Parts: sequence; C-alpha cells; structure tokens
Amino acid sequence: MKKYIVAANWKMNNDVRPSVDFAVSLSKNLLKLKQTEVILCPPFTSLFHISEILKVTSLKLGGQNMYFEKSGAFTGEISGSMLKSSGCQYVILGHSERRHIFNESDEMIQKKMTAALEIGLKPILCLGEKLEERQSGATHNVLERQFKSAFSVVSGDRLESCVIAYEPVWAIGTGVVATPEQASEAHQFIRELLKKQYGSEKAELMTILYGGSVKPSNAKTLIEAKDIDGFLVGGASLIEQDFIGISEIVERHLIAKET
Ligand code: PEP
Repeated sequence: MKKYIVAANWKMNNDVRPSVDFAVSLSKNLLKLKQTEVILCPPFTSLFHISEILKVTSLKLGGQNMYFEKSGAFTGEISGSMLKSSGCQYVILGHSERRHIFNESDEMIQKKMTAALEIGLKPILCLGEKLEERQSGATHNVLERQFKSAFSVVSGDRLESCVIAYEPVWAIGTGVVATPEQASEAHQFIRELLKKQYGSEKAELMTILYGGSVKPSNAKTLIEAKDIDGFLVGGASLIEQDFIGISEIVERHLIAKET
C-alpha cells in the first residue's frame, strides 16, 4: 500500500520550549488520524525533546538537513547518526533553500542520500524548478537531472525507504500555489522516471508529496489530483489549525477513496 504523508517543515522557527508545546498540542489533535502519516521536522535543537513526546504517538520525526560525513572536523554540521540518535526516522534532503541559499549541488545531495540510507534514515528528497526554468520550458530537464543524480545511488530494494517532494521553487513561501494540473503533471513525470529506473510496481508504491504554499483552502483540490500523495508544508505547518486542517483533508480523502 502506498503511504500518504503530511510533513511539517518548521524551517528555522520556534525555540525549544514553543516547539515542544506545539508538538504536544499537535500530537493530541492528530491522534484521530489513522491512515495519514504525519512527520514533524523541527529545528535540530528541539529534535530530542520532541522525540520523547512523539514516542507515545503515531507521529514521526524528521531532520531538515544533515551532512554526508559520519563525524569529524565539520563545524556546524549534523550527521545522520546524530539525527537518528535524536529520534528521527526521516530527513529532508535537497530542499530548495539548501540548494539555492546554501549552494548545495546535486553531487552533495547525492552523497547525503547515500549517507542517510546507510544509517537507516528515510530521505524526503526535494526536487523542483525555479520560475525562470518553468518559463523557459526547462521544468522536465531540471526534475530529471535532480532525480537521476539523487536516485543513482538508490537500489531497488531501498526505494521504499525514500519519499519524493516536488516543490516548485516559485511556490515555496510565496503564497503562489501550483495549480492541481501543474503539480499533477510534474508528479506524473516523476512517476515515469521512477518507472523507467525501478519498474511500474515499485514506482506506483512511491509517495510523491507536493510542497509550495499548501493551505487548508487549496489542499483538497491538490490531494484529489492524480499522483499527489500528500504534502510537505512550510508556512502553514507553523499555524496549528492550518496544519491540522491540511492533515484532516488528506485523511478524509483516503477514507473517501476506500469507500
Ligand atoms: C517548504 O519549505 O518546504 C514549503 C513547502 O514551504 P511553504 O509551504 O511555506 O511554501
């Protein structure tokens, strides 16, 4: 069965105390979700505290980034093993803010994919084109380049540990959401890339999230679109009612699909 996921990327927001309080409240309010997997990705400083809270819930924990080396003289960096020992099962890799603000290359992200899988973390690999790339018709080329680089190190038996998030850069934090047609078209293209590399059966089981200005007001039409299997949520994940609302929309969609 394909997993539907709603992941919260809190980015560099919330100190330890407010993070913990927020996680306590969210986990109580999301208890009733049975089919949707919810992942919280707080800042590094809150991970361990939040992991203690999430232990008795079905919510999962993820890091927002990691370095590919295991340990050593890399001031300011965090290893996969540090994330794991802080209670993480997931790690976001290749987020557009990492690619474009911190100049992370495809090559670096590929190394992070290898390191995450080796330590037993599930990567949420972000892919997405910039506005000028969409406008010049380069969207598929960009997605294919990012996909091929990251997945060249993922064998078929490890694919089920990976999640993909399609996040058009022009939609992240801008309030401009991709239309369901635009998002679905990109997701279908990514699914085709998966099929070519891993075959249909494995490709159909992969979770492909959409991210970019998702809100309760646009989540329903997006989740109903073909090949959209959940969301990676930034801004709206910091607003309790909005994040709960988005998660409940995904859950209701799954229940409706079953009946
Ligand atoms: C993100 O940062 O991954 C994201 C999707 O942000 P936002 O929801 O704010 O666009």
